[in-house]
Amino acid sequence: MAISPMRAASEPSRTSARLESFDPASGEVIACFEVTPFVELPAILECAQRTQREWAAQPLRRRCERLRRLRGVLFDRRHELVDMVTRETGKPRVEALFHDVLIALDTADYYARRAPRLLRPERVPHHNLALRAKSAWLHYEPVGVLGIIAPWNYPLSIPLGQAIPAVAAGNAVVLKPSELTPWCGAVIRDVFEQAGFPRGLVQVVQGGGEVGAALLDAITPENGPHKFVFTGSVATGRRVAEACARKLVPCVLELGGKDSMIVLADAHLDVAASAAVWGAFTNCGQACLSVERLYVEASVADRFTALCVAKTCSLRLGPGSDPETDVGPLIRPQQLERVEEHLRDATARGARILAGGRRRPDLGPCFFEPTVITNVDHSMRLMQEETFGPVLPICVVRDVGEAVRLANDSPFGLSASVWSRNKRRAREIAAQLRAGSVLVNDVASYYASCEAPHGGCGWSGWGRTHGRAGLLEMVHLKYVDVDHLARWPKSWWYGYNEQLLAAGDRFVEFLLAPNWRRRVQNLPGAVRLLPFARSSRRV
Ligand code: NDP
Repeated sequence: MAISPMRAASEPSRTSARLESFDPASGEVIACFEVTPFVELPAILECAQRTQREWAAQPLRRRCERLRRLRGVLFDRRHELVDMVTRETGKPRVEALFHDVLIALDTADYYARRAPRLLRPERVPHHNLALRAKSAWLHYEPVGVLGIIAPWNYPLSIPLGQAIPAVAAGNAVVLKPSELTPWCGAVIRDVFEQAGFPRGLVQVVQGGGEVGAALLDAITPENGPHKFVFTGSVATGRRVAEACARKLVPCVLELGGKDSMIVLADAHLDVAASAAVWGAFTNCGQACLSVERLYVEASVADRFTALCVAKTCSLRLGPGSDPETDVGPLIRPQQLERVEEHLRDATARGARILAGGRRRPDLGPCFFEPTVITNVDHSMRLMQEETFGPVLPICVVRDVGEAVRLANDSPFGLSASVWSRNKRRAREIAAQLRAGSVLVNDVASYYASCEAPHGGCGWSGWGRTHGRAGLLEMVHLKYVDVDHLARWPKSWWYGYNEQLLAAGDRFVEFLLAPNWRRRVQNLPGAVRLLPFARSSRRV
C-alpha cells in the first residue's frame, strides 16, 4: 500500500494495536505488526526467566554450538536480511551488508569461538602473604533476563551485537526494537529460534517508547529484567537510567555522539577527505559514530575543504535499493527538520554552505543533500548538539592545541579520530582526547571489530558493549574463595585481648613494614597469630 509522503511523515505509524513499518525512500507501508499489550509483559518476563534457568544450566560449549548455528542461519539468510534492512531504514544495500549483516555474523562467530575462554572461571592469586593458604576464582554467571532497548539506525547489528553475548553468557533477552524498525526486530527472534535456541529465550516486544517504558515498569526482582542495555538518545537514556535507578537495576547506556575528526597539516589529505565525507554521510549521517565536527589545521584548510566539496558533489543520492546509491534518505521527515534547524542557526551566525543544504522532495519525502558547511564555531547548535543527519561542518584551527581544546569542548565523548602521517604524534594527541575510542587515520571502523569495546563517556553514556568488556556487562561476577586450613579457626574470630592485639600488631609489621629488617624482626611475634600457634582463649 502506498501512502502520501507527508502522511507517512507526520502521522504516528501506530494504530491502537498495530504498528506499521514504512519504507523511508517511498513512504510505503511495507509490514504490519501487533503492538505488545502491556498486560502481557509479566508473562513474557516469567517465560524468559524460566527458559533462562534451563539455558544457563547447559554447558557453555553447547551454548556456543548454538551460536555457530546462528551464524549459519544469518549467513544463509544474509541477502534477505540486507533487503529488509534497506527497505526499513532506506540505507544503501552495501551499508546494510557491511554495517548490519556482516557485523552481526562476525559477532556470532566471535563469541561462539571466544566465549568459552572468556567465561572460564579465572584464578585470582592472593596478594597478601597471610592469605596464601586459600585459593580463589572469579566465576562469570549470567545476570538473568536482560532487557535490550534498541534504536532504528542499525536495527540488526546493534541488538544482535548485544543479544549474542547475552545468550552466550547464559541470559535470556527481551528486546524492544524501535517502532521505526519492527520488521528487523521481529526477524531477530526468528533467527534465534531457527538456530535452535529454546523458544522464549529471545523474545521481542513491539511498540513505541511507551512499550519500552512499560518494560522498565514491569521489572520485578524475580523475573527481571535484571539489567538493561539501552542504545538511543541522551533524553531517553536519562529516562531509562532514572527508571532503572528506582528499581535498583543496573543499565548500560550507549547514547549519542558528536564525534570530532582532527586533520593535521601532514595528513594524507585526499584520504582524509574521503574519510570525512564517508564518516559524515554514511547511513545519511544517522550514526552515533558519524563525523559531526571536523577540525583542520589552517595551512591545509582550503585544499582539504575543496577536496571534501568535490567528493561530496560526486555522491549519488537515491533509494538504498539502487545499487548505485551512495547516500539514502533520512529515516523520517522529522529528522530533516532537525538538520534544517541546525543549518539555519549556523548560517544565521555566519556559516557558509559549500555543498548541498537542500531537501530533495523530487526523490522522496526524506531525502536531504549531503552538506558541507564552513565558517562554523562553537556558538552554533551544529557544533554543540547531535545533528544526526548528512552534514559535515569544517572548522579551521590555528594548531593542534586549539583542535584538541575544541574537540574536548563537548558534553559528548563517544569517539574521535586523528589524521597525520606521524603516527606517534597522532597517538599522543589521541591520549589528550576525551572519548571512548580514538582512531588514527580511520573513522568509525572499530565498530566492526568484535573485540573492540564500544561505549563512551559523559553524555555518550556508560558501560560498554562488544568485546570482552561487553561480555562482562552481561555477567554477574562471583568471587569464590576456598580455604585450605579448614581444621583451624581463624585467630581473629573473637577471643580479643591484649595478647591478640600485640600479636596482630607484630603481624601488621611483618606484612607491611616499609623495610625488610623490621619485617623479619617481627616474624616471631607474627607467628603467634597463626591458627595452630594461638595461645589465647578461643570462642
Ligand atoms: P531514542 O532515544 O528515540 O529511542 C531509542 C529506543 O528507546 C527506541 O526503541 C525507542 O522506542 C525507545 N524509547 C523511547 N522512549 C522510551 C522510554 N520512555 N522508555 C524506554 N524506551 C523508550 O533514539 P533513536 O531510536 O532515535 O536513536 C538515535 C539515537 O541513538 C541517537 O542519539 C544516536 O546517537 C543514538 N545511538 C547511539 C549508539 C551508541 O552505540 N552509542 C548507536 C546508535 C544510536 P521508539 O523508537 O519505538 O520510540
